[in-house]
Amino acid sequence: MSSSSPIVAIATAPGRGGIGVIRVSGKELDALIHTLFGRTLQARHAHFLPFKDAQGEAIDEGIALFFKGPHSYTGEDVLELQGHGGPAVLRRLLDRCLEAGKDQGLRLAEPGEFTQRAFLNDRLDLAQAEAVADLIDASSEAAARSAVASLSGVFSNKVNALADRIIHLRMLVEATLDFPEEEIDFLEKYQAAATLQGIQDELERILQHSRQGAILREGLHVVLAGQPNVGKSSLLNALAGEDVAIVTDIAGTTRDRVMQLIHIDGIPLHIVDTAGLRDTEDTVERIGIARTWDEIAKANVIVHLLDARNPQDELDSAITTRLPSHVPVLRVYNKIDLLTAEQQAALPAQESGATVLPISARKDIGLDTLRRTLLDIAGWNPGSESPWLARERHLRALERAEYHLGLAAEHATHSDQVLDLFAEELRLAHLDLCSITGEFSSDDLLGEIFSSFCIGK
Ligand code: GDP
Ligand code: ZN
Repeated sequence: MSSSSPIVAIATAPGRGGIGVIRVSGKELDALIHTLFGRTLQARHAHFLPFKDAQGEAIDEGIALFFKGPHSYTGEDVLELQGHGGPAVLRRLLDRCLEAGKDQGLRLAEPGEFTQRAFLNDRLDLAQAEAVADLIDASSEAAARSAVASLSGVFSNKVNALADRIIHLRMLVEATLDFPEEEIDFLEKYQAAATLQGIQDELERILQHSRQGAILREGLHVVLAGQPNVGKSSLLNALAGEDVAIVTDIAGTTRDRVMQLIHIDGIPLHIVDTAGLRDTEDTVERIGIARTWDEIAKANVIVHLLDARNPQDELDSAITTRLPSHVPVLRVYNKIDLLTAEQQAALPAQESGATVLPISARKDIGLDTLRRTLLDIAGWNPGSESPWLARERHLRALERAEYHLGLAAEHATHSDQVLDLFAEELRLAHLDLCSITGEFSSDDLLGEIFSSFCIGK
């Protein structure tokens, strides 16, 4: 499929809507515009026009907007037709465009192809292009706000500035390599170690901030674990504010996972209600329990729910021993509404390695504290600045750069100061940073990123 032929797609979401938009992008759209409207369109002006088929019969009427490249979203000529939103009308309009643009090779756009052209024409870098998709998919206001931050280039600018500092240091090293007798003095003369330390500190800040952005994008995974009937489903319902899981008095009701997306302060949390953990003869229930342990291993935080009336239960100790040590645990005693004041006071306040909270899912006691504590121990700590949206891909690249800078630092402190190795690690760290903005990205990576977009974007 030619990457230079003009492309067209319905840009608005499928289904009925107030307006529907057809978007065309190509190097040169004058001929197409002439075929469609029998006239020229002034760039960046709204023209109210009839949209007609080849026989001159009206399909719709609406606004035609023309953007002359390179001053457009894709950097090419762009034509947008805004008509009425119905799927049949849009379909006919799309067909009409395809027919009118046949001679110029106009074809349907692939998913993300408009944004891919914007990237290829330097209208956006890769991190910004990804932010376009993330903005469309944003599930909360906080996520949308931080996607806009990425889109406007806040993240890319930080990464580029850091990449420049690495290049600068590397240039000094490479220059010194040409004069071997000066190698020994290099590190002192240019305060290379201190400069590198400054770069590492900045990378650390960017990484911390990006981790927060990734939480906003991907959400936190919270697993509700505990014996049957301790109130896991009730707690999920209370947190979700609606009935999503079945609550019963019969132990073993929740046989499969129920995943519910909730937001706390705009942070998405995927809460998984699990099959109660106990020994069972029932095969279906057994499968549910096996899945529970899978979920537990992947969680950002585990909420181990217990019945406050049996705080020392043996099965709970067994569950505790089986919980993975790498995931933070919040131990929550439920049903405290059934306890006397003395019994409540006797509940353990602190347990080894776990934060302890008393609640009542039914009476809404302690749930606000639970919400705050959840975010806290799951690693949500945005600081004062609001984060930019980051993807796993960005985190991996930043972590690889961090690794190479660490190796560079080792070479710098080495007694015989291996400068060429130092320079090589700087080069690798620089490449990792550039992969974020897409400067040297492979076609495979680009294809993978853009194909996950929706069509028309
Ligand atoms: P699960 O098996 O752990 O999911 O437990 P459920 O959420 O299905 O609850 C089991 C029973 O405990 C139900 O009858 C709930 O109404 C009851 N329950 C849950 N939370 C509380 C609570 O905070 N206080 C009281 N008194 N009962 C509760
Ligand atoms: Zn349940």
